[in-house]
Parts: sequence; C-alpha cells; structure tokens
Amino acid sequence: MIIKEIHLGMDDIDSPRGGCTTHFASLVVEMLSNWGALWIDYPNLIRLNPNIPYRTRGNGAVALRFKIEASKARDILPALEKMIAEYIEMDYPNTNPGVVLVEGNIPVEVQEFSERAIWRTISIAIAKRVLESNSIQHVCIGNGRGLIGSLAAVGNRLTQDHTYEFIAYRSPESSNQPRRVYEDSVIEMNRTMGERLFSSIDPRTNRMLIAPHGPDPVLYGIRGEGPEDVISAASFVQSDSSIERRMVFRSNQGTGAHLKHVVYVADLRPYMAALVHGVIDRDPIAIEGGHVLFGIGDCSGRIDCAAYEPTGEFRETVARLRKGDQALVHAAVRPASRTHGLTLNAEGIVIIKLAKRSKLLNPICPSCSKRLKSAGRGQGFKCVNCGFKNPEGAKIEVLLDTELEETVYLPPPRAQRHLTRPLERLNRINSEVPKCLIDEWHIP
Ligand code: ATP
Repeated sequence: MIIKEIHLGMDDIDSPRGGCTTHFASLVVEMLSNWGALWIDYPNLIRLNPNIPYRTRGNGAVALRFKIEASKARDILPALEKMIAEYIEMDYPNTNPGVVLVEGNIPVEVQEFSERAIWRTISIAIAKRVLESNSIQHVCIGNGRGLIGSLAAVGNRLTQDHTYEFIAYRSPESSNQPRRVYEDSVIEMNRTMGERLFSSIDPRTNRMLIAPHGPDPVLYGIRGEGPEDVISAASFVQSDSSIERRMVFRSNQGTGAHLKHVVYVADLRPYMAALVHGVIDRDPIAIEGGHVLFGIGDCSGRIDCAAYEPTGEFRETVARLRKGDQALVHAAVRPASRTHGLTLNAEGIVIIKLAKRSKLLNPICPSCSKRLKSAGRGQGFKCVNCGFKNPEGAKIEVLLDTELEETVYLPPPRAQRHLTRPLERLNRINSEVPKCLIDEWHIP
C-alpha cells in the first residue's frame, strides 16, 4: 500500500448568509477521517494580511496536513469540488473558493509566497504562476482568488510562534439566530484559566470576545497557548445554542506575524501591514467621527497617521504624543481617497524615545514668591504684589510630566486584529511543533 503525505489548503469558502472556511474545513476533516487519514498536525488556521479589501471577516485560510493511501489521495480534489458547490451560494459574486493540494514537501517558492501573503497584496495571476511552476494540483470556482489564501495556508507550517483555537459550531441552518452564550460562564472560564488563554474578555468593558457577531456557524472560539488549554476552557462555557461540531486549530493568531517588516515611508503601499519607524512631526488633533490624527516622518518622507474611533482608549494614548517623540507605528496602510492621501491606520505603537516636554514660564519673585509679570517689551519682569523689578530676567523652562512611557501600546482587545500579539503574549513564544495530537481535537 502506498501512503502519501498531503497538505490541503482551502480559502474563500463562505458567503455573507452563512458558512465559513473553518466550518467547511471541519466537514472535510470528518470526511477524510472516514477515509482513513492519519493526521500529522491540527488543522492550521492561517490568518493572512488583515488589510486585504476582499476579505469577508478576518482573512483566514485553512491547511489540513495528513497521510493517506495513494488511491484515496486521487479522489480528494474531485470530492471537494462537489462539496464546495453544495456548500456555497454559487450566485454570490464575492465567494471565490480555492483549494490546493501539495504532495510531500512544501516547495520553497510556496513558503516564500506564504510569507508575503501575510503583509502584502498578491495578485491571482502570481498565485496561478506559483501553482503552475510547482505543478500543484488545485481547483477553484469564480475568479480563483481563493487560490491565494489556500496556497499561503499550505506554505505556512507554523514552525515559529503559534497558538490554538477551539471552535464550537452550530448548524449552518441556525447561522442567523442570536448566539446564546452566557457571559458569566466566560468570565469564570477566563478567571480560572488565567494566562493560558488570551483575548477572551475585554478588560475595560468586561465584554466577552469569544462569540462573533455575523451570520455564520461559529458559536464561539476560545484562544489559548495549548490544545489542552482551549479544550479544558470550553468545558466552562454555557450556552443554550446546540453545538453540532467542534475542532481545535493551530494558528498564527495572536503572534503579531503580520508586523515583521520595517518599511520606509516612501516605500509604503496601499493595504500593506508595516512597521513605520520615525519621529512624530505633527501634534495629534481630534477630528470628526472621534478619530485622532497625527503625523510621522522618517528620512524618506512623512505621512498622516490615524487612531480611529473603534480603537477606544488607545486614542487617549495617541493624543498624548508630541512632535519629536520617536516611535514605531504598527500600521495598516489605507489607500488615498478624494479627501486624504495615503494614511496609516495605527493598530499599535511602540514609543521608543519621548521628546522633552516643557513650557516657558515667567520667573518667581525672590521676595514674595509670586510669579512675575512682564514689565513691557525688552524691560524684563516686575512683581505686581511687592513691586520687585528684574529688568535682566528671562523666562525659565519648566519640564512637564507625560503619562506616556517608552513601551508598547495597543488598542483594547475588542479592537485588535486576529493577528495582533496581545499584551498578555508579549514575551511568550510557543515554538514547539506538536509531535502527536491529543484525542479530542475534533468532534465528530
Ligand atoms: P472567512 O473568515 O469566512 O474565511 P475571510 O475574511 O477569510 O472569510 P475570504 O472570503 O476568505 O475572507 O476572502 C479573502 C480573500 O482574499 C480570499 O480569496 C484570499 O485568497 C484572498 N487573499 C488572502 N490574502 C491575500 C493577499 N495577501 N493578497 C491578495 N489576496 C489575498
């Protein structure tokens, strides 16, 4: 019997009226398990460039990695093509599913493609070229855009930092119903599991973050450091909605993997995820809509930078920046429009060096300790209280306090991207790739 190692990537298998790629992947896991697949990794949930305009939600793609009998391997793509046609709403123009199947080792070109897809924009033509030059089997529907995410998912083996997510799904038929997940149970889960979980609760509002809001089969997703952690955590969650299936994913969520490239202002392009290192060149101002705007420059140019209203209390931090502060902005590049040029959407900021904050004040009267007044242009200062005169006096510089520190600031968890490395993971790296999978990683 010949056994083959298969890496199966899939993306864009969704529609706004229900369905999503991770749920579809859970159906494929069930089918392949019935075909005798031996799983060599948890399903990988790979988040890609979060600034891509075509995404439905969080720009996630899935890779399944397993060993299977060669005769079965041949049937996978035809079976998936049928499954996709039944799953998606074929008349919805924004769904362009893609599936790729790589046998054996992942070609270097695919790994490089994947590294780029997490922070740049890639064309469908380039994805097709990589598929062709590496003779990679694939299927797609619509314009083929899903091939970009599928290929990028397959190419990312998560050999560096990674996290886990336990996702509980309701039936697609109940995708439009409200999710009845009890917040108290989630707060208790978070309290008990402590630092083994992340991004479950927004600390300021005490709002749970595990249940999404859109019409899709995801009932809730719990993010954590290990597969055991997210499975144990799920036992705390109480819900009135019935759960149809569950699956544990290994993921690049919470790793900050999209923000690894420092880019000069002159080299920024629309939709990039970039780190911009420079000096604040324009004091922050509040603009209509509750946004805060400031400017940053480097040796190649300058650019406006915004902390938008949904980033909540992060705007208060940004509003305290001053001209001359040196910072590293975690940026999503917004294309220019009729009203503004290329703009950075700040999704985090590292303050590297605070500029001196000071103001010039009149000197103090040496006899009565009151602040002196100007005695007229070029005539120094006088005291209106005791009559003291100081014709030679000059203003004195007084240092001001700032509440800012030279550290990293992020928006609150409710406004973070899936890929954002949250503060609770700042110094944590899970680099050990699992050697075997724990039993209950998927049901059914
Ligand atoms: P879901 O969470 O339901 O899977 P989503 O938010 O992941 O939805 P998709 O419907 O999958 O969004 O749409 C994202 C599309 O963008 C996919 O077709 C994917 O192939 C494509 N894409 C992903 N990364 C890039 C990139 N870096 N450049 C260009 N296109 C990309």
